[in-house]
Amino acid sequence: MGHSVRSRRFAWAGLLAGALLLAGRATRPAPRPGAAPRLLPLGRVPADLLADLASDLTAVVAPAQPLPLELHEPRRQLWRAAGLLDAVPPGTVSQPALAIADVDAALPGRTCVFGLAEASQQRAIVFLSRLRNPRDRAALRQRARREALHELAHLAGGQHCPNRRCLLFPAVTPADVDRRGERFCRRCRASTAGRFSQLLGPLPELAVRDLPGQREGAEGVR
Ligand SMILES: [Zn+2]
Ligand SMILES: [Zn+2]
Repeated sequence: MGHSVRSRRFAWAGLLAGALLLAGRATRPAPRPGAAPRLLPLGRVPADLLADLASDLTAVVAPAQPLPLELHEPRRQLWRAAGLLDAVPPGTVSQPALAIADVDAALPGRTCVFGLAEASQQRAIVFLSRLRNPRDRAALRQRARREALHELAHLAGGQHCPNRRCLLFPAVTPADVDRRGERFCRRCRASTAGRFSQLLGPLPELAVRDLPGQREGAEGVR
């Protein structure tokens, strides 16, 4: 289930997981021609991070758009997440739109989110601010990639999953993103991985044996 706001389904999340486990696995296969996300910087996004993400996701980078200043709430020092997603021009199945904003954003009455996706418009957004680790600058690239992969999985039709190590687990904290990793659980692999692979090529981790069983998940579905 996703998170429903104004009759629309927002899925939000983060990504990640056994970083050490994943390190050293095969590199990502080349994507199919013509199937690549379009990375759209909203406001100022560090150029090196954008380049890393474009490389990791085999994405094309669009010219930056300004952040709509009316979506900033100075009192809470937050940006309106849903409004920012609305500002992202819709994408297509073969080229979904993935915006990146280096801000802190929240849904109405909620805590902050790491990202949102709107499958009907094939657009998603990742918010970088809360993914930073002041003690580990390199963590941002991995977290941003994992969050981006999570949102792209929603655009491929994926729904949130209670398996904490599954790509479709809804992360609430950066630690969730770190734990989650870049693999689908068996169930989500069956339901989502096919369409996802048409976009990015099969994730190398998909070849690995199934994830451990679904034990947790109290905070799984929002
Ligand atoms: Zn999600
Ligand atoms: Zn799953």
